Amino acid sequence: MIYADNAATTRMSDTAISTMTSVMKEMYGNPSSLYSLGQEAKEIIEKAREDVASVIGAEPREIIFTSGGSEADNQAIRIGAEIGKKNGKKHIISTAFEHHAVLHTLKRLEAEGFEVTLLDVHENGIVRPEEVEAAIRDDTCLVTIMFANNEIGTIQPIREIGAVCREKKVLFHTDAVQAIGHVPVNVVDDNIDMLSSSAHKYHGPKGVGFLYVKKGIRITNLIEGGAQEQGRRAGTENVPGIAAMAAAIKEASEHMEENAKVMTAMRDKLIEGLSRIPHSALNGDATRRLPGNVNFCFEGIEGESLLLLLDDKGIAASSGSACTSGSLDPSHVLLAIGRVHDVAHGSLRLTVGEDITEEQIDYIIKSVKEVVEYLRSFSPVWRDLCSGKAQFIL
Ligand SMILES: *Cc1c(COP(=O)(O)O)cnc(C)c1O
Repeated sequence: MIYADNAATTRMSDTAISTMTSVMKEMYGNPSSLYSLGQEAKEIIEKAREDVASVIGAEPREIIFTSGGSEADNQAIRIGAEIGKKNGKKHIISTAFEHHAVLHTLKRLEAEGFEVTLLDVHENGIVRPEEVEAAIRDDTCLVTIMFANNEIGTIQPIREIGAVCREKKVLFHTDAVQAIGHVPVNVVDDNIDMLSSSAHKYHGPKGVGFLYVKKGIRITNLIEGGAQEQGRRAGTENVPGIAAMAAAIKEASEHMEENAKVMTAMRDKLIEGLSRIPHSALNGDATRRLPGNVNFCFEGIEGESLLLLLDDKGIAASSGSACTSGSLDPSHVLLAIGRVHDVAHGSLRLTVGEDITEEQIDYIIKSVKEVVEYLRSFSPVWRDLCSGKAQFIL
């Protein structure tokens, strides 16, 4: 099988697996226990905290371990909202193409009386810092904008946005789940106040992540209970997961440059090959995107069938459209960059890892071409387009 869905999740690295296994086998004590087995587990967590912090340029005490990216996003937004509420500020700025962990949390806050402004991400899938600046009001308590988009891979001008927020004295959170381990991220240089990360997006285990909160920011916790994580996130720590995450983030950051080089070359080869399919278009900026991300729309077909047929050919890919509660809604990300419903339905996301080979890329191009032609051969939409009954968009 060719795995081309690394934005959904990644295969765990051997280092992460061996770290996790050995911690599970040998360091099974509860980190809150006073005997040495517990204290050794505690030490593992604190060492992991140092490792994670150093990769993003933070201090260890600024790291809170969570159950993953979704929890970190929820907590960050809650932190911003609670501080805002205390100061009588109830306006939050975000974008239309955030992950649902962010968008759905913002929906909840709207129900609680907050006002949310979702900024345009334009056709290239990139937010403009001057539009962030223009949207900031006296009652703005939080700006939350993702580092890199999970569907179309576009990388945002985070440093500039962070600088705008600093100057206007507004808290700035970024969902960096797709960015960490793949592109350089430094919370100091990039003017970031809060940042979310998830281990399974960089070859670590699922169900573990972290939230960075700059020191001095008053923390609200989502989960009440024991005093773990200095009272900022209750629950017995996921010691093996945390240790494996630290091993994975270190490994990813050590090899980031070489991996990105390989992945970018493969990405561009894939983009070039797929562009040759008639009436197709790349989604999102061609260069300001994650090293492994390719996302296309093909006119006259439906993404879901494309995926199933690619699966038959041994290719694991993803479509932009998510099947929500039985009804097929096109991806909110593709709609946000201005794709119309019909076109957004025919989308394909291929996210390659550093172990992808040139032969595999050739095979993917050939397979997608065949499957698109096959689906178009009996598509009523395609027939209408070809007969002139409907207008081609792409
Ligand atoms: C995967 C992902 C998340 C969710 O992370 P989990 O650890 O799966 O909860 C949040 N944001 C983005 C951008 C993601 O890609």
